[in-house]
Amino acid sequence: MNRAVFLDRDGVINEFLYEVDGNILSPANLNQLKILKNVKKGILRLKEMGFKIIVISNQPGVKFGYLSQERLEEINDYLKKELGIDEIYCCLHHPKYDGVCECRKPKIGLLEQAKKDLDIDLSGSYMVGDNLSDIKTGINANVKKTFRIGTLRADILELQHVKEIFPDYTLPDLLEVSKKIGELEEKI
Ligand SMILES: [Mg+2]
Repeated sequence: MNRAVFLDRDGVINEFLYEVDGNILSPANLNQLKILKNVKKGILRLKEMGFKIIVISNQPGVKFGYLSQERLEEINDYLKKELGIDEIYCCLHHPKYDGVCECRKPKIGLLEQAKKDLDIDLSGSYMVGDNLSDIKTGINANVKKTFRIGTLRADILELQHVKEIFPDYTLPDLLEVSKKIGELEEKI
């Protein structure tokens, strides 16, 4: 079986967009896509360790009307080619329009799909995200370790306690995640 590092997209691979009114949006086309620092290096290291790199992303923007399916596919194709990502799975649903689906994180439908498509051993895989629902997804799927990209902030630590969702590690970027996974793998 293969092992994977599952990556959330927005806030892990690329920057968010900040609108004038303070709303946070995902990039809606390639021009708006800005890859974060050290992402390419981190992915390269993880691939050298033999991991599949699989993106698991909630993209309800198609439903909200600010993103088209065509543009999303362009972004996905670019990310695969530019960063060597093996596969990208997106949930396009939103509870407001679709009710409850099985693929929107923190549900694990997309990880199960990846497991089936690419013969992934979830228990030997890792999950990386920038928010607690990504971490919850990893925990729900029983992955080996979960990583939150970001800084250790009092408000987020408090939120972790309120929600009772704790990442195994909080690290600033994907390169640091790849180094930590390297350390963990050495100990096996
Ligand atoms: Mg995110």
